Amino acid sequence: MLQQTQVSRVITKYAEFLHRFPTLEAVAESRPARVREAWSGLGYYARARNLQRLARTLVRHGAPAAIPGDPEALRLLPGIGAYTAGAVASFAYERRSPLVDTNAARVLTRVFAPDVNPRTHAGYKHTWEIARAVLPRTGAATYVHNQALMELGALVCTARSRACPECPVRSVCESYAQHCAESCAP
Ligand code: SF4
Repeated sequence: MLQQTQVSRVITKYAEFLHRFPTLEAVAESRPARVREAWSGLGYYARARNLQRLARTLVRHGAPAAIPGDPEALRLLPGIGAYTAGAVASFAYERRSPLVDTNAARVLTRVFAPDVNPRTHAGYKHTWEIARAVLPRTGAATYVHNQALMELGALVCTARSRACPECPVRSVCESYAQHCAESCAP
């Protein structure tokens, strides 16, 4: 639900959806029209179709259905891209798995590679390489690291502004060193 949609719009819908469909089996066995109906208001209905395809795939493969924790296995499921696979592996299973969404990409490139544009194909690949290279050693630490990365991008190092003087990573940030160290000193 959070793909392309803000948390504030998702929260109520998420609770309602879980109330209607408390298990993957319930999603898998439902008529597609009911799933779509529960999704109404969120838009991007391909996500609802993919969710049901995902549920049907997992239910077919065993009972009770379980979402895998391995990013490679997650990528094989309908509607799961690199970011979602990394997020599920890291946040639900505490795997040592990188993730790059728009916010994380902005922070990673500003800190480690200010000349890289993550919106280009090569830049996107490079950003994933950085994300992999800076992971902590354990899955539990990776969980915290990934949460922090996303929070930094959402609250401190945003697309509109950079709160460099308050930023906890400014001492290692290339962008800060290049453009801000003198002019924005706290
Ligand atoms: S120091 Fe500034 S540019 Fe660097 S990550 Fe923090 S807010 Fe972003």
